[in-house]
Amino acid sequence: MTASYASLGVTPIINVDARMTFLGGSLMPPEVLAAMLAAAETYVDVFELQARAGAHLAAITRNEAAYVCTGAAAGMALCTLAARTGTNLADIARLPLAPDCPSEIIAHRAHRVPYSRAIELAGTTLVEVGDAIRTEPFELEAAFGPRTAGVLYVAGQHLSRAALPLDQVVEIADRFGVPVFVDAAAQLPPVDNLWRFTEQGAAAAIFSGGKDLCGPQSSGLIVGTTDFLAGVVANGAPHQRIARAMKVGKEEIMGLVAAVERYLAIDHEQRYQECGAIVDRWVAGLAHLPGVEATRNEINSAGQPMPRVMLRLHDRDVASLRAAMRGRTPSIAIGRHDSTTCSLTPECLADPAEADTVLTALLDELGGGRS
Ligand SMILES: *Cc1c(COP(=O)(O)O)cnc(C)c1O
Repeated sequence: MTASYASLGVTPIINVDARMTFLGGSLMPPEVLAAMLAAAETYVDVFELQARAGAHLAAITRNEAAYVCTGAAAGMALCTLAARTGTNLADIARLPLAPDCPSEIIAHRAHRVPYSRAIELAGTTLVEVGDAIRTEPFELEAAFGPRTAGVLYVAGQHLSRAALPLDQVVEIADRFGVPVFVDAAAQLPPVDNLWRFTEQGAAAAIFSGGKDLCGPQSSGLIVGTTDFLAGVVANGAPHQRIARAMKVGKEEIMGLVAAVERYLAIDHEQRYQECGAIVDRWVAGLAHLPGVEATRNEINSAGQPMPRVMLRLHDRDVASLRAAMRGRTPSIAIGRHDSTTCSLTPECLADPAEADTVLTALLDELGGGRS
């Protein structure tokens, strides 16, 4: 018997929530699966594979250098290691304590996300600047000191209100000779974000392979300058150094290469239109229901230009609707925007036909079960 979700008794889910790791991130298209399968059938020198995959990914994403890692959180840890040690092997040998190496990463308080803790894996602490309302340039300037290793910038429209713009952060960090690296894990689309942050002067930008790129779930892409990425390579697998705990396999490397090639080739405008058409159908289908307000929103939960439905519930609890949808057959994961509003995102659907299944289930829950 072949192992399957069914053989383990694990329930398949239709995902209209978001590209969440706890829901499986994204689904790999055939060209990504084919690249992984082919990679699994042959031995190669993984140092050579990393170098050639990195050079190719750099060229197609308009960057100086690139590196495939196991995910954006691992990429943050690797960039922190690179910011601390560069390519200095004596320093790398002393990690994670490395008392002579700088040990602080500066970040906006407004950029604090659960993933920020990944930098602590590299033996550093986070120095927070600004507050939830605003950040002043002098606050950032005052945070630099002899222990500063780098600046972490978390990209995203939804996190930008109280933060300084990236180019200003880079300009200030440059004066102190400190690299800025960008957590851009979920900042695709638009596709040109693959080069936007590095063009603005960031030493590196980090993307999840398992979100909109639809690469392997345990993959990530770091793009950046030749200098900074040399430090990532020196710390990363296949070396038997501290970051070996985050090693990426040959299958993930090739899967991510195929995923980035595909992402650069697909028609993003057409995809936007297709997702928009599903959103319009959902809005129209839900419009007549009493006690709900369905509206089209042009921005998804990660702040990306991708349409979704905001479903405001006047007399039904968001948590109970989400639980009821998850409990159905097939099970459906819908998003929670806030205490009164759910969200429905078409971009994660395995098949456009699932859009009708979702609408039928919602009509049943919201129309049928009410007194
Ligand atoms: C998803 C996400 C991460 C983590 O990415 P993984 O590839 O799952 O490790 C980090 N930062 C942000 C902002 C994210 O959205």
